[in-house]
Amino acid sequence: MATAFGAEGCCIIQMLAEIDPMVRVFNLETGYQFPETLELREKILKRYGIEVEYVRAELTVAEYEKEHGGPLWGSRSDQCCHDRKIVPLRRAVVGYDAWISAIRNDQTPDRAQASLIGWDNKFRMVKVNPLLHWTKKDVWAYIMKHDIPYNPLHDMGYPSIGCQPCTRPVADGSNDRAGRWSGTVKKECGLHVMEYADGSGI
Ligand code: SF4
Repeated sequence: MATAFGAEGCCIIQMLAEIDPMVRVFNLETGYQFPETLELREKILKRYGIEVEYVRAELTVAEYEKEHGGPLWGSRSDQCCHDRKIVPLRRAVVGYDAWISAIRNDQTPDRAQASLIGWDNKFRMVKVNPLLHWTKKDVWAYIMKHDIPYNPLHDMGYPSIGCQPCTRPVADGSNDRAGRWSGTVKKECGLHVMEYADGSGI
């Protein structure tokens, strides 16, 4: 299972702790995540004994920014997400048949087209989206019911949390993903963008 430690991912970790805590859980540690996100990994370890594995790009942030003459998140965010998320994920799942993600279908147009279980052509394996039909209300009710640890940034106006340079708090009532790459049309890092058998996206 891949998690960015969002509220939905925390729900699935709770379920895995009950069903099979030996399932491999990993986080794409881009090097740009919030300290609160990294601290949540430790809280999860303490609570469930589940050690979420960090999957990292080959280059550290310092090496990467040196190679490119500075950070790419402001000018070439697609490239940055590709190098620091997509490529490491491709490496991390070699030899696996399936992966679990915590997407919900009301989050983005791409996610609206996902299936509960389906073939993920981008990563060439089955993708399982157990919370696909949950609402945000369902997620938070589950968190409260089970007293699940979650990212404190959610209580500070961040409904969706990604890397620090690309995430802003949003006003009440805004779309949950309005704070992701705000000021641009980008709303997905690419992990959950559909790709068809001919290699095309939507
Ligand atoms: S979300 Fe931003 S910082 Fe993180 S990998 Fe993508 S562009 Fe880079």
